[in-house]
Amino acid sequence: MPQSATNQGGPAPAGTVGAATAVAWDGVADLLRAGGLRWTPQRRTLVDVLKEHEGHVTATELIARCRELDRTTTPSTVYRTLDVLEEFGLVAHGHGPDGREEYHVLPEQVHGHLYCSGCGATWEIRPETGAAIVDALAADLGFSVDLSHVTISGRCRGCHDSPTD
Ligand SMILES: [Zn+2]
Ligand SMILES: [Zn+2]
Ligand SMILES: [Zn+2]
Repeated sequence: MPQSATNQGGPAPAGTVGAATAVAWDGVADLLRAGGLRWTPQRRTLVDVLKEHEGHVTATELIARCRELDRTTTPSTVYRTLDVLEEFGLVAHGHGPDGREEYHVLPEQVHGHLYCSGCGATWEIRPETGAAIVDALAADLGFSVDLSHVTISGRCRGCHDSPTD
């Protein structure tokens, strides 16, 4: 199974590792407690792993990395912790083309995702672009689209232009 690739050079704001990231994770122990979870070594490990990531990471990758660092980490601990982190906006999940949950670490805004089936790169669908989809479906069907769950597969410019994969 291919690793999910994040296009670092894409139009998406990649975020910067540094002061802003550190501040965002400040007080995470208190947030988890507010969400009804104890601050345990396993949760500290998960937060440390999340800090290593910019952009997207699958739940499977997170669990594997946490278990490398601490064999006592269980998938249910990871998922419950991610749920609370998502309530507080530190992560946001969407789904890859195969339906797998992918977490966006420190998302700046609600966005959808494009996946290139040729090279595996991903791009964000920003709200300005997504508005065309969201507004059309609202007008046509009265359907209220959750942009965070808009996942579109296709071929990027580079793969489209090249005759072979
Ligand atoms: Zn979902
Ligand atoms: Zn994203
Ligand atoms: Zn491509």
